[in-house]
Amino acid sequence: MAIRKVQEDPHPALRAKAKPIKVINERVRRQAADLADTLESIDIGIGLAANQVGLLWRMFVVRLPEDERATIFINPEITEREGIQESNEGCLSCPGRNGIVERPQSVTIRAQDIGGNEFTLKAEGLRAACICHEYDHLDGILFYDRVTTE
Ligand SMILES: [Zn+2]
Repeated sequence: MAIRKVQEDPHPALRAKAKPIKVINERVRRQAADLADTLESIDIGIGLAANQVGLLWRMFVVRLPEDERATIFINPEITEREGIQESNEGCLSCPGRNGIVERPQSVTIRAQDIGGNEFTLKAEGLRAACICHEYDHLDGILFYDRVTTE
């Protein structure tokens, strides 16, 4: 278990596009565990992307208050977006900033777990917004790029 330093804007990794993970091996599993441990160590955090710890891999973790453990998404693809919600967002990498972002009300996401198995998950509300926020990180997009109201 290792807690990683969360990089803050304007760290270059936050603006870089993360690369697909070709082989899910022990090294990837270790990094995924570190990402989950880091998120779980931060009370206010509900999601953390690999970019935020300076790792340019397509991987993020999500843990809402009602979740016992973080869910790890490797090589995620959002396959469906439905509806619209106004999401009040902040980011662990952008301390002191928040704003309203338009997000889908629900999303379907396909990803791999740490065993390399593909899974599909449908999420709504806060979980859907969080997944979109973390997914954006993998493409170097920060939430305030999408803010309509500060
Ligand atoms: Zn963020």
